[in-house]
Amino acid sequence: MIVIRNARILGGEPRDILIVNGLISEIGAGLGGETVIEAEGLIALPGLVDLHTHLREPGREDAETVETGTRAAARGGFTAVHAMANTSPVADTAGVVEQVWRRGQEAGHCDVHPVGAVTSGLEGKHLAELGAMADSQARVRVFSDDGKCVSDAVLMRRALEYVKAFDGVVAQHAQEPRLTEGAQLNEGEVSGRLGLTGWPAVAEEAIIARDCLLAAHVGSRLHVCHVSTAGSVEIIRWAKSKGWNVTAEVTPHHLLLTDSCAEESPVGPYNPIYKVNPPLRTQDDVNALREALADGTIDCVATDHAPHPVEDKETEWGAAAMGMIGLETALSVVQEAMVETGLLDWAGVADRMSTRPARIGRLSGQGLALEVGAPANITLYDPAVRTPVDPTAMVSRSRNTPYEGLTLPGRVVATFLRGRPTVLDGKLV
Ligand SMILES: [Zn+2]
Repeated sequence: MIVIRNARILGGEPRDILIVNGLISEIGAGLGGETVIEAEGLIALPGLVDLHTHLREPGREDAETVETGTRAAARGGFTAVHAMANTSPVADTAGVVEQVWRRGQEAGHCDVHPVGAVTSGLEGKHLAELGAMADSQARVRVFSDDGKCVSDAVLMRRALEYVKAFDGVVAQHAQEPRLTEGAQLNEGEVSGRLGLTGWPAVAEEAIIARDCLLAAHVGSRLHVCHVSTAGSVEIIRWAKSKGWNVTAEVTPHHLLLTDSCAEESPVGPYNPIYKVNPPLRTQDDVNALREALADGTIDCVATDHAPHPVEDKETEWGAAAMGMIGLETALSVVQEAMVETGLLDWAGVADRMSTRPARIGRLSGQGLALEVGAPANITLYDPAVRTPVDPTAMVSRSRNTPYEGLTLPGRVVATFLRGRPTVLDGKLV
């Protein structure tokens, strides 16, 4: 029996939350329990759910493992993550997804839901064993070749048709490959000044438009990964207005940072810490993404947590790996970009970072409102503090955060997974 005292559920009035046998058994005032956790001033949110995490295991355990990545997730307030399929071997069979799922269970810091590859080996030639992965112990519902785009329209159509049988969803990394050959940074004024090959917005938007049309044509579910441009937002808004089954995510970094970071970094231009795919865009794109997340055109925030070892990031821009870590800073960045700006309240944050991603991933025990009878998946968050981001204090195996030195609001104080604390007083249990 744990009682959380005086927590502000979704930012509301202080209440006590009693947890018994992993469930919320009572919400009220003056409740008692064996273990008392004082939560004065803290906001209680349903445990966060990430649709897009790279745990790197199997194959790149030098960057991250299921153990270290889920520790980082718990530190960030997450109780469930979807582990992307671009591992080595690729998660394209029942065997690999079950291995990742089992490792998540053993680690126990948060639920791990493997994403299945759409095509064998992410090669874009043949469909992977989608049905076998769906039927496996891992019960895969989200399929993605993330890191690569399913650029072949026929394969994309077949995948969309196939996943209907088990209510799955295809999550597309929208990147027209020919338009982005050698691409390094958003195509625009900054890439021009820096002399880096541009990654044009149209390469994302063309694929999203095509896939929305395909999803409508076959009556299936499409999820768009890491939307990064204002034009993409317009296309998704249009698809939703038609009643098509299209959902979308945005990353914290695309809500806060712009391509000018590559030019104006504190340590000078060409700092590859800002190299990411899709690239950081312009302030106009950032503004459109924030508005779209606020009005629900973009359904949710997903971290695209992409750990890389130092040697793959601390090199020249052209040779550096793409990607940044994000699990431990996600909620703070969302507070900075969306709450401090008045675009979302805490109920909105809970919706975009827990309820909706759980629904898109078809997770049954996650993303539920903090009510009596619900599983006690709870994040306690202190929105009042502001601290400089310190990469050395992070628990991810990698350190490639773009927020080093930046002062961000908020701190995850505690995370509960079905009533069991995974983080207390900001530290892993
Ligand atoms: Zn991607």
